[in-house]
Amino acid sequence: MHNFKPIKQPRISEEVFNQLKEAILSNDFRAGDKLPSERDLAEQFQVSRVAIREAIRALENNGFVSIRQGAAGGAFVTDLTFEQLSSACLDLFLANKISIHELHQVRILIEPEVARLAALNAIPEFTKRLLEAFEAEHPPGALLTEDIASATKVHFILAEMCGNRFLEAIVNSVIKLNAKILEEIKPNPPYSIHPPGLHRPIVEAVLAGNPEAASEAMRNHAAIFYDNLMNLEKEYRERVDVGVDLHLKNQVLCTLS
Ligand SMILES: [Zn+2]
Repeated sequence: MHNFKPIKQPRISEEVFNQLKEAILSNDFRAGDKLPSERDLAEQFQVSRVAIREAIRALENNGFVSIRQGAAGGAFVTDLTFEQLSSACLDLFLANKISIHELHQVRILIEPEVARLAALNAIPEFTKRLLEAFEAEHPPGALLTEDIASATKVHFILAEMCGNRFLEAIVNSVIKLNAKILEEIKPNPPYSIHPPGLHRPIVEAVLAGNPEAASEAMRNHAAIFYDNLMNLEKEYRERVDVGVDLHLKNQVLCTLS
């Protein structure tokens, strides 16, 4: 068990937060573990229960624990994932702090490299899934959300194949953000912005284990996608009802320009 040190500094709950976080990061508490009760922690830290409560709330806000209510409740350590990165990026986009153009710049910088690395790692386990995902793209009659989900799978698998979890997380954030934007712009038909077959040169190059061709094909894909997105701008602006103040709608309008 982790030995917590008593605190004499002024910012008590912050110090409690730091120590608890340290204990979680050093695996003294693992995913699924329940933190000691408020009363026990107050005793160990020799601080008030209010300070403990504040610290635990901060841990919850930062994604380190989730709070369960009831008799068997308490603060449970969460499994740290990169999901937070996606939601942080989405929040920044919604707060108008990432534009579509900036998103595209990152995409065109990173995704060709991811495709290149994927081609170097074209083992059967991955290539089978990649081909299946490609062949299942754009099912006929699919609604927008389903169409987007079918067309993003190849990107997610390539990211997984690249063998770098941080790169994978960044790509996943970028793709999820893109999907959100498409759900707002509502291209009609759904596949008009991402035409069927767009992934074919990428998938073929990766399956052939050709890193340079995979990188080039992905660069083309990103450029075509961005052009289509820009072409939809005018139509989208005409379609949007000025009276509707959906935040995302406003954000898309701001950042498309
Ligand atoms: Zn794509």
